[in-house]
Amino acid sequence: MGTDHPILRLGRDLAQGLIALLYPGVCGACSGPLAPEQRYFCAPCRSAITADHHDTCPRCSSNIGPFAALENGCPRCRDSVYHFERCIRLGPYDGLLRELILRLKHANGEALAEVLGRLWAEHAAPRLQELGADVVIPVPLHWRRRWSRGYNQSEVLADGLAAHLRLPLRPRWLRRHRFTTSQTEQTPAQRRENVRGVFVARPRASLRDRTVLLVDDVLTTGTTASEAARALRGAGAAHVVVAVLAHGPS
Ligand SMILES: [Zn+2]
Ligand SMILES: [Zn+2]
Repeated sequence: MGTDHPILRLGRDLAQGLIALLYPGVCGACSGPLAPEQRYFCAPCRSAITADHHDTCPRCSSNIGPFAALENGCPRCRDSVYHFERCIRLGPYDGLLRELILRLKHANGEALAEVLGRLWAEHAAPRLQELGADVVIPVPLHWRRRWSRGYNQSEVLADGLAAHLRLPLRPRWLRRHRFTTSQTEQTPAQRRENVRGVFVARPRASLRDRTVLLVDDVLTTGTTASEAARALRGAGAAHVVVAVLAHGPS
């Protein structure tokens, strides 16, 4: 028996109506038909996206073995300086999740980012809540890349998390003020040099003593998230915790 106020129910129905317009009864990943009780993704795609079969490092979220010593991070991140404290992921950069992340990089990926953000939030809500954030900020794109892609996938994902966690989303509090080239072919040292100082917090951002949930699609070496966290900490944030769709490639 429903006890919701009719207005609340109407709001929810309208939101569901918009999603249904974007994905009228088909899975956001495989375009197969959805059963009436399924939302956004069919059951096999949903479990392929959300099944993470690995233990992960609480500091950098990479795969770890069963007996890994984790003081100061795992063997992959122990020697790296990070300006964020923790990182959690939905899964490894592999399989269907990897395929969907690649699709997000195209202008028509926005509707997919929206449903992925919702699935991520529903699936990981307890772990995300444990991070104790009080504001959500996506890793920003440079305006040139945002313009050519049409949207920032991390912002749409962050919106899904913020709405579910009932936290404020503040994409304008952090800005990427220098255009950087692709980092995929670079060594870790080159990546660090490439992103050094690319982020600035907006002067009017109220970051003092806040715990920021920084959201990105992928974390590889952690240099980009760390630089973003450095700018946020420099502007007064007390803690920065990171959530990414995927860690990798491993
Ligand atoms: Zn599917
Ligand atoms: Zn680690």
